[in-house]
Amino acid sequence: MHEFSTMYSIVQTVLEAAKERGADKVLEINLEVGRLTFLNPEQLEFAFKVISEGTIAEGAKLKIRSVEPKVRCLKCGYIGSGIYEGPEYHTLGLPLPVKCGRCGSMKVEFLEGRECKIKNISIWVKRECSLKAKPKNKEHEP
Ligand SMILES: [Zn+2]
Repeated sequence: MHEFSTMYSIVQTVLEAAKERGADKVLEINLEVGRLTFLNPEQLEFAFKVISEGTIAEGAKLKIRSVEPKVRCLKCGYIGSGIYEGPEYHTLGLPLPVKCGRCGSMKVEFLEGRECKIKNISIWVKRECSLKAKPKNKEHEP
């Protein structure tokens, strides 16, 4: 389950970032998932539900945006969309069958499409001061 291990590290990163900012709850997580990661959005969502259970990220809205592959051709220098010619599910570790969008060469370098990034997260902070921030003044404290 590729999705579970990926989602596990995403949740860890989100929780860390949220904790650093003194968050009480994670409201929304925006992900950018490259098409060449072959991560299934439904599986990701399911994995998220399971992994985030009992954490401050539980119940957060997960938004997944699919990113098309972008390549640089080593033969003709073209930079742009690559043409993926493989099946919908790819075996990890094998070279990706992606062709240059201009000359059709398979000698391409991947610029985008293989990553899974956290674009941003929305958090809810109950207190005015987070743990790391120095208290500015006491007026805002309940
Ligand atoms: Zn080319």
